[in-house]
Amino acid sequence: MIQEPSRHVPVLTEADVVVVGGGTTGPIAAIAAARRGSKVVLIERFGSLGGILTLGLNTKPSGALIGGIPLEIWNLARAAGGAGDDYMATTKTGGVRIASPTDPEIMKMLLTRLCVEAGVQILFETFVSSPHVEDGTVKGVFVESKAGRQFVAAKVLIDCSADADMAAKAGAPFVMGSGDAEARMQPVSMYFIMKNVDLVRLADWARDCDDVPARAIPGDREGLAYGLWLTGFNGMLRRFQDETGVKLQRDNITLKTADGQMYVNATRVLGVNVFSPAEFTGAILECYRQIEGVCRFLRERVPGFEEARLGQVSPILGVRETRHIEGEYTLTGADSRGETHFEDSIGADASALDIHDPKGGDVDFQSMPPYEIPYRCLLPRKVEQLLVAGRCISADHDAHARSRNMPACMATGQAAGVAAAIAVETGVSVRKVPVVQVQQALQALGMPLFARDVPQR
Ligand SMILES: Cc1cc2nc3c(=O)[nH]c(=O)nc-3n(C[C@H](O)[C@H](O)[C@H](O)COP(=O)(O)OP(=O)(O)OC[C@H]3O[C@@H](n4cnc5c(N)ncnc54)[C@H](O)[C@@H]3O)c2cc1C
Repeated sequence: MIQEPSRHVPVLTEADVVVVGGGTTGPIAAIAAARRGSKVVLIERFGSLGGILTLGLNTKPSGALIGGIPLEIWNLARAAGGAGDDYMATTKTGGVRIASPTDPEIMKMLLTRLCVEAGVQILFETFVSSPHVEDGTVKGVFVESKAGRQFVAAKVLIDCSADADMAAKAGAPFVMGSGDAEARMQPVSMYFIMKNVDLVRLADWARDCDDVPARAIPGDREGLAYGLWLTGFNGMLRRFQDETGVKLQRDNITLKTADGQMYVNATRVLGVNVFSPAEFTGAILECYRQIEGVCRFLRERVPGFEEARLGQVSPILGVRETRHIEGEYTLTGADSRGETHFEDSIGADASALDIHDPKGGDVDFQSMPPYEIPYRCLLPRKVEQLLVAGRCISADHDAHARSRNMPACMATGQAAGVAAAIAVETGVSVRKVPVVQVQQALQALGMPLFARDVPQR
């Protein structure tokens, strides 16, 4: 251990609402709060917005975007040629309506433009090292950048760091993964892009292939640019590994297109402690090794990939699960299957259930009825003026298999932004803010709050 000398830290700026993390969730929270007139600062450690959605090359919400700012953004992306139409994906429990993938570059620009237009001050390349808490109430955050260590004051802090970094450092209770001694967590993966894929040949082959059971295959050529989604290849992967000696850690591959490029979700590393820089780096190296193996498999075994080449490897490792805050309410597996009605719901979600077994094995991807997310899941216990949105909300390991999906993350970001702004406007704490007022504001944005409001299409 080494003693760090104490020092005075300059105040960079003061805000009503500070949003930590400009990933999938943070920009929506920032836009929602700023459009209500709050002074918002959005702080992101990388140099662009979107997180796993864009930098992570994920691109596809596993469910329809059913209203509010997320749907507005997708419609703007569509108008800019950066997304296609929603499609129905076949799964073992029926069809899931999926919002089309988006072009990550168009989405980065769009999210940034919408933030700037709403008056959000973005701080890129700025790492938030910790919140500052006085008497149990958050007062701002310490940041690190090329300018050194600085302070950003906040009336309300929204933690969209994905790992609940702010909540944990502020002293809010949390669990890791399944919350028991095993702390089971869904594995990490790294996306990559294959270029020069013959999509027509691939789609024609996949239509008649039993080894690709979960799928969406558009009937027309134009639809292939954003509408081809294939999950499976299990038998082919087994044979490839047996015959070549190449070892991969995953039973299946998911392929999806965006702007005619092929996005590949095929790598997996189990049991990584992502809070250890050494383990995190080890996982990246292992993903690189697997990417080479998967590229070889695709080129040698899958029609349409004969001339394909590696186009891009995501610059970030995709982390599915770490901390879940312990909030005023913890969403359970049963709740996430649509079995509970919540009077304080801040958004309905119609995403698929999507579990990558923490111990390995196949992916469980299923359609489910819509469910509701209560405001209390965004409210960490023990710390005031802090909201949490995105994949680390108060949900147990089972519920997280649905609530980690991007449509749910975005819905929680939108609700946190609205609630924070109302709290600032009315001078009440985020814990005491009247939920009915938040719900009315969300409905005015066109967000369905309850499962019964989700459009049946
Ligand atoms: C490999 C993989 C595949 C997936 N597939 C799908 C799918 O097909 N469909 C689907 O709907 N969902 C999918 N998910 C889940 C979904 O993408 C994520 O749960 C969701 O995007 C998380 O959103 P988020 O905003 O919580 O986190 P992120 O998008 O990760 O955003 C967090 C942001 O916070 C920033 N940040 C973190 N800490 C700090 C700090 N201290 N200071 C400053 N900035 C910070 C990060 O740089 C990042 O930009 C997948 C996830 C993974 C990992």
